[in-house]
Amino acid sequence: MQETAIPNGAANQSVGPAAGTAPGPKPASEAIIRAEGIEKYYAQPSENRIQVISATDLSILPGEILALLGPSGSGKSTMLRMLTGLSCPSAGQVYWHGKPIAEAEINVSIVFQSFALFPWLTVLENVEAPLQARGVEREARRARSMKMLDTVGLDGFESAYPKELSGGMRQRVGFARALVVEPEVLFMDEPFSALDVLTAENLRSELLELWQKKTMPTKAIFLVTHNIEEAVLLADRIIVLGRNPGHIRTDFRVQLPHPRERKSEGFTQLVDYIYKVLTRPDVSPDEAPDHQHPGPRVRDQRQMKYQMLPHSRPGGVAGLLELLLDKGGRDDIYRLADDLAFEIDDLLPIVDAAQLLGFLTVEEGDAAITAGGTEFANSEILRQKELFRDAAVSHVLLLRQIRRALETKSDHTVPEEFFLDLLDEQFSEEEALRQMETAIAWGRYAEIFDFDAGRRRFVLPDAQEEAVAPGEDTE
Ligand code: ADP
Ligand code: MG
Repeated sequence: MQETAIPNGAANQSVGPAAGTAPGPKPASEAIIRAEGIEKYYAQPSENRIQVISATDLSILPGEILALLGPSGSGKSTMLRMLTGLSCPSAGQVYWHGKPIAEAEINVSIVFQSFALFPWLTVLENVEAPLQARGVEREARRARSMKMLDTVGLDGFESAYPKELSGGMRQRVGFARALVVEPEVLFMDEPFSALDVLTAENLRSELLELWQKKTMPTKAIFLVTHNIEEAVLLADRIIVLGRNPGHIRTDFRVQLPHPRERKSEGFTQLVDYIYKVLTRPDVSPDEAPDHQHPGPRVRDQRQMKYQMLPHSRPGGVAGLLELLLDKGGRDDIYRLADDLAFEIDDLLPIVDAAQLLGFLTVEEGDAAITAGGTEFANSEILRQKELFRDAAVSHVLLLRQIRRALETKSDHTVPEEFFLDLLDEQFSEEEALRQMETAIAWGRYAEIFDFDAGRRRFVLPDAQEEAVAPGEDTE
């Protein structure tokens, strides 16, 4: 009953089936952890509560490395906390071997990005700590910890303190401490993000080796990451989260053989496919082959009044377009990021912004400059501002609304708060502020409005002089 097409394309823009992939999860009967319709809300100071995760079904199956991929703020850590029982879903239920997680004896470990070691304990004592907490006898505790330190390449460092170690070594301690309890599921939240490139790469391959050699009794690994290549390098299955609120955009198996080659065709195809899903947050990927996942569709049916403005500066958009033009008008986003030594989280908002403004399109993981984008990149700065203004006013509802309001009001000024209230209905308070900050940066640059930061008011450009009290006008 497995279908052939895999990560399917977006409704109005087809994605070529990526090689080396297969449909999403198998039936969830044998799942170690199964989440059904889990949602998460956070209370707000105002009476609105903000939904961070929309109803989601997700299963962790034995034998798999499952990567949860998504931009920052999409709810990856929130999801991890719910799946590990660290936090309670606001709705829905998480099951551990079929039993509600709160009533079950779960056996999981979590590795965090920030190492989270006890600074006053030695390496050995840090690794022993979870065993001690589980009541393991001193001798057994010591023996198991020493063996685990050996496994992760830390023999000889037992009596060092965390502060004496490099970041890579500290994360090794983090792994040893997580693995020493022989967790059935090992959870990791961006475990390599705080490390330098080389160290991260080493640790990744070592982890994979441990896993493949079945050195550890761990049955599944759940890896949270915002790094596409990391996911494609390690995972047997990848789930991509979209944000606002968090929801599953696609869920598929990766069938590339190990060791995976970053430069191989299958690898880059898959990276491109995922880039594509991530760069088109407004389109929903086709029905995933797996029909057991009603959750992910929830958000797409919801009417989003305001687009999510990517948090990027107009100067960034200009820089990207100029670079793209330089490269002949089209380039692989993955290569662009590589050339710029950018992380996806840094490049994507700029690509998103340029796309939102109609300056470029994204197809098959390539960014292609449009006629409008070419004109923009070729223009001098004043003309660029004009082109940006036209594009922003026609594509961005919020900017259009602010401009209209300013033109309509007799004194040509409107308080920021008026628009923040509108945004608050759709975004979390924090996000509404960030949206406003971006809108202000774009609007000021394009001279759609002025912003009086002292009074927190928008002002129509040119209207400022008129607004001066008559008495002060000496001419
Ligand atoms: P990720 O790990 O993907 O970066 P998180 O799960 O940390 O995302 O956060 C998802 C969203 O939930 C973000 O918008 C974040 O601001 C919000 N959020 C997380 N924790 C809380 C909290 N305790 N209260 C309110 N909002 C929160
Ligand atoms: Mg996180």
